Amino acid sequence: MKPPLFDYVTPESVEEAVAARAADEDSVFLAGGQSLIPTLNFRIANPTMLIDISRIAALKGIEISDTEITIGAMVRQRQIERDSGVERANPLLREVLHNVAHTVVRNRGTLAGSIAHADAAAESPAMLLASGGSVEVRGPGGGRRIEADDLFKFHLTTSLEPGEMITAVRIPVLAPSTGWAFKEFARRRGDYALAGICALVTLDDSGRCTSARLSACGIASTALRLVKAEQELSGGMLDEAAIVRAAKAARDAVTAADDSQASTAYRRHLVDTLTRRTLAVAKTRAEERSAR
Ligand SMILES: Cc1cc2nc3c(=O)[nH]c(=O)nc-3n(C[C@H](O)[C@H](O)[C@H](O)COP(=O)(O)OP(=O)(O)OC[C@H]3O[C@@H](n4cnc5c(N)ncnc54)[C@H](O)[C@@H]3O)c2cc1C
Repeated sequence: MKPPLFDYVTPESVEEAVAARAADEDSVFLAGGQSLIPTLNFRIANPTMLIDISRIAALKGIEISDTEITIGAMVRQRQIERDSGVERANPLLREVLHNVAHTVVRNRGTLAGSIAHADAAAESPAMLLASGGSVEVRGPGGGRRIEADDLFKFHLTTSLEPGEMITAVRIPVLAPSTGWAFKEFARRRGDYALAGICALVTLDDSGRCTSARLSACGIASTALRLVKAEQELSGGMLDEAAIVRAAKAARDAVTAADDSQASTAYRRHLVDTLTRRTLAVAKTRAEERSAR
């Protein structure tokens, strides 16, 4: 299929891009095009104008401070995956991105674009939630920061106001004694997952879990924080019994209806298994980091 007719502009600054978007309410931002272009080709979307933000130099950088990684909106997923500074600061990103589509898609697609797109099955929104990250946003009303917990409202729907663009994604640097893991199950490598679990656990010297953050993709109408599963872990020993309780709580969070890919019951089974496996890996990594 071919896309419908549209105008096309290539602003060179965030201000120009936001002004172009404000001037035409049926326009859309184009980043890597890996989700937007298929929706045009299938005639699901019919925007009047594409505002291609790929020439905006200010959106192409990665900055790493002692506490935070700031990733510009036009940084491609593959660039993040290959960045050794990002890998040192927070290895969860590479592990998650490695599960997103295929290399050719990640060569073009951006982290910010995936987060703005907010597919309930996408890995990056779940990673942002588990990490306690946020997005920097610019719009006609100025700039603001939106925490991950306030961002994802429904499948393909965020709390971005009309005309607002994400300019950067912020992800905390991994704290010492924190272990991480992401695991998913997809029918074929590179497909969207039927279910995926992301976990960050922090242990103290005695092995007690001082903090647990868990999230999931593919199991509800948005990427989801697994708050009840986190509560089963925080404050106690991260032993087999706690992991089994957390997996049960995660399983109970599945609300996705039966679809052509999987039944609700099967997704619950997947979430239970993936949560146990993800927590086991995160725990081992936390112990290894504590021992350093
Ligand atoms: C074959 C294939 C398989 C894929 N498999 C997976 C997968 O397994 N997991 C997965 O997560 N994704 C998958 N994807 C999607 C891919 O990760 C996309 O790259 C990503 O979803 C969107 O990023 P993008 O930069 O290409 O955004 P675009 O396609 O350019 O834009 C997507 C949407 O976000 C908006 N947008 C983009 N950037 C911004 C911004 N800075 N501010 C505000 N709005 C913005 C656009 O207007 C559009 O509505 C797949 C894609 C393909 C083609």
